[in-house]
Amino acid sequence: MSQIIHRSLRTTPAVAVSAQGAYITDIHGKRFLDACGGAAVSCLGHGHPEVLAAMHRQIDQLAYAHTSFFTSETVEQLAAQLTRTAPGDLNYAYFVSGGSEAVETALKLARQYFVEIGQPERTTFIARKQSYHGNTLGALAVGGNEWRRRQFAPLLMDVVRVSACNEYRDRRDDESQQQYTQRLLNELEEAILTTGPEKIIGFCAETVVGATTGATPPTPGYFQGVRRLCDKYGILYIADEVMCGMGRTGTLHAFEQDGVIPDIVTIAKGLGGGYQPIGAVLASEKIVAALQAGSGLFQHGHTYICHATAAAAALAVQQVIERDNLLAQVQQQGAYLQQALREVLGELLHVGDTRGRGLFAGVELVQDKASKTPFDPALKLHAAIKAQCMARGLMVYPMGGTLDGQYGDHILIAPPFIVTRPQLDFVVDTLHQVISEETRKLA
Ligand code: PLP
Repeated sequence: MSQIIHRSLRTTPAVAVSAQGAYITDIHGKRFLDACGGAAVSCLGHGHPEVLAAMHRQIDQLAYAHTSFFTSETVEQLAAQLTRTAPGDLNYAYFVSGGSEAVETALKLARQYFVEIGQPERTTFIARKQSYHGNTLGALAVGGNEWRRRQFAPLLMDVVRVSACNEYRDRRDDESQQQYTQRLLNELEEAILTTGPEKIIGFCAETVVGATTGATPPTPGYFQGVRRLCDKYGILYIADEVMCGMGRTGTLHAFEQDGVIPDIVTIAKGLGGGYQPIGAVLASEKIVAALQAGSGLFQHGHTYICHATAAAAALAVQQVIERDNLLAQVQQQGAYLQQALREVLGELLHVGDTRGRGLFAGVELVQDKASKTPFDPALKLHAAIKAQCMARGLMVYPMGGTLDGQYGDHILIAPPFIVTRPQLDFVVDTLHQVISEETRKLA
C-alpha cells in the first residue's frame, strides 16, 4: 500500500511512467488519451521538446534564486509576455506556484489596495454559488461548492454569496436569456446594497465555471453587467481564470469574449501547461500604483514566488502557443468538439446539456431530460464513467452532482490544444458508448 495520502485513502491510482503529446502511458504499458489535461492543465500536451529544452537551459544556468535577493531575466521576460498579451492595463504580474495561491494572492492584493487608499472598512467579498476557487482557506471561503467547504466552514471568512450564471439549470421557461441575465444582475446589486458597498472589497467569479458544474459559460452581457455594477459601487472585479484562462476557451483570457477587463485576474493551469507548478495574478495599473504610492510593499510572499525554472517552463509554453497560433486551433477544434458533443451525445436519453467554450467542454447527465432531475449522487455515476473511460484508454474528468441535488453528474473535457480530429472523434465515440452503457445499468 502506498505511503502517500492520495486523493482516496482506499485506492491507489494507476502509476504513470511516461507521456508524449496527447498520451500518458502507465506502468503496464497502457496508453491513455489525455482528453482533460489532468484538470485542464496540459495545454501543449506532454513532452514538448522546446519546453523541455527551455527548462534544461534554466536549470543549468539558475534553477532558483530567492526573491528577497534577486529577480531573474526569465521571470521578467514572462511578466513582459503576459502583460503585453493581456488587454487593457493589466500591466503587472505576480508569480506563485498554483491556482489556490493565485487566488489567495488576489484576495490579499484587493484587500491591501483598499487599505492603501484609505478604505480599511472594506472587508467583504461577494462570490457565487457553485464556484471553485481552490482548496486553501481563503480560496475555499470564496468558493461556493458545499461538498468541498462544508467541514471547513467554521474556519472560513464570511463571504456574501449570489447565484451562479447557469442558464441550463436556472433560466426559467418564462424568461428570455436577457431577462435571466438581468435577474442575476439585480440579485448582485441587491447583495451589494444589503451588504453596504462601502464594506465590499470585490466580486470574485470564474469566467467559465470549471470544476463545480463543468465548463459552464456565462450568458451574453452577464460580465458586462458585473463590470458596470463593480464600477458603479467602487468594487473590484476579480476574474478567476485558473482553469478557463490561457487559451483554453479560444482567446488567451476567457473574459475577452465577454467584452470586459477585470481589475485582477488569476491564471495557473494552462500557464505552465503542467511542466512546472506555476500560477500568477495579473493586476491593473491602479491597484499597483496605489501600493507603490502607499506603503511601497505588497504584504505577501512565499518562498517559491517567481521561481526561475517554473517561469522558464511557462515562458516557453506561452511562446509556443503564440508562435504556432494555437488559439486559432483551439477555436477550430473547439467548434468541432462542441458540435460533436451536441450532435452525438445530445441524442442520448440521459445527456441533459452539452456546453462550453473552445476546448473546454462540459456534459451534464440527468436521470430525466424533461425535468432535468439529476441521478442520485449516491449512485456515483461519474465514478463509473471515469473507470470505464480509463478502461478504454480515455482520460476525461467526470465529477459528481451537488449535495442539494440541484446539479447533476457532469464530465469535463479539456484536451490539449494540439488535439487532432481523430482523437476528438475517439473522445466523443467512447463517451457515447460509456454513457449509454452506464446509464442503462441505472435505468
Ligand atoms: N480556481 C479555479 C477556477 C480552479 O479551477 C482551481 C483548480 O481547479 C483553482 C482555483 C485552484 O487551483 P490549484 O488546484 O492549482 O490550487
